[in-house]
Amino acid sequence: MSQPLSERIKSLPASATLAMAAKARELKNEGKDIIGLSLGEPDFNTPEFIKEAAIEAIEADYNSYTPVDGYADLKEAICTKFKRDNGLAYKTSQIVVSTGAKQSIANVVQVLVNPGDDVLLVAPFWVSYSAMVTLAEGNPIEIRSGIETDFKITPEQLEAAITPKTKLVMLNSPNNPSGSVYSKEEYEALAVVLEKHPTIFVMSDEIYEHINYDGVTPFSFAAIPSMYARTVTVNGLAKAFAMTGWRIGYLGGPEWIAKACTKMQGQVTSGTNCIAQRAAITAVLAPIGKIKYMVDEFDFRRKRIIDLLQDIEGFEVNVPKGAFYVFPDISSFFEKKLRGKLIENSSDFAMFLLEEANVATVTGDAFGCPNNIRISYAASLEDIEEAVRRIKEAVS
Ligand code: PMP
Repeated sequence: MSQPLSERIKSLPASATLAMAAKARELKNEGKDIIGLSLGEPDFNTPEFIKEAAIEAIEADYNSYTPVDGYADLKEAICTKFKRDNGLAYKTSQIVVSTGAKQSIANVVQVLVNPGDDVLLVAPFWVSYSAMVTLAEGNPIEIRSGIETDFKITPEQLEAAITPKTKLVMLNSPNNPSGSVYSKEEYEALAVVLEKHPTIFVMSDEIYEHINYDGVTPFSFAAIPSMYARTVTVNGLAKAFAMTGWRIGYLGGPEWIAKACTKMQGQVTSGTNCIAQRAAITAVLAPIGKIKYMVDEFDFRRKRIIDLLQDIEGFEVNVPKGAFYVFPDISSFFEKKLRGKLIENSSDFAMFLLEEANVATVTGDAFGCPNNIRISYAASLEDIEEAVRRIKEAVS
């Protein structure tokens, strides 16, 4: 039988990170000793105090459909969190809780982008942004950056990318995959450009907010007064609270956008899981000190992996200030042969590492940075050390 799938789904690329994880799993099943550093998932358990809140919710018989935009008391808690951590004043009518930050971002794109609109993706950008824009029939326009500018764009680059068709800019700091964090001043300089273009909106993805190092504090784009009314701030519990599978994300933004996202969600998924939402109240209100042990551990691994990678000839290594990835520039290997294999681009390099070093990473191509690979250090120290040892051996 023919399989007449829609053009929409045929145009959608598969996620590069998930594809790499699948390939790594395949090799593992064949008996190869693969170390997976390709996924962005904390290797901690969800903290006990959050688990207890979920157990209490089950015992209190939370089981019904939830309000599409989330429980009122969870939205209150999110408003408290936005005020406490980001200096952002949102009312509950400006908050929408979703099935992961991924759904929050997809909603924003769906409700703002018309076919033919340009959406500016500030590279490096999270893999799904581009696919979400394609799904909304918008044009994903990449603004490139590299290791020489700590993976940040300049106001001049932003200005040059803007056209009358530009509708939305997608920002992410702390950044996946580079770990870079835009300072208040750097964001303010980008805002100066956007002030001249009042019809452009901003999605600011702040999901790695609490995972930051060296005293660097992430800054919320919506905290710039001129940007508040046209910025949607997205966050979630997956990363900082080790709750990837609980699927809780949320946004704060202009009420009319929040309402539209609720309408979208009401037709597609309805309100997210009741037990996870009850536990989320405890998580978002928890003092940040309660999750510091995880951030401290990531920091320890970060320092170790940077030290080890810097020792590999041909690797140019950035010093991430947030998230749990390092994004070395490996372009010095391009057009060279490693163990007889010609490396033409970062996909070749990532595949070489998988096959020859048995280490799974992700090609930078997927993030709009073709000179790099992403290595996650959300893994045990033992795995990190062994993986880098193997990489070094394979490339020397
Ligand atoms: N934004 C970024 C930058 C991410 O890395 C991720 C998860 N990998 C998400 C959003 C999605 O988060 P969630 O699991 O809450 O959907």
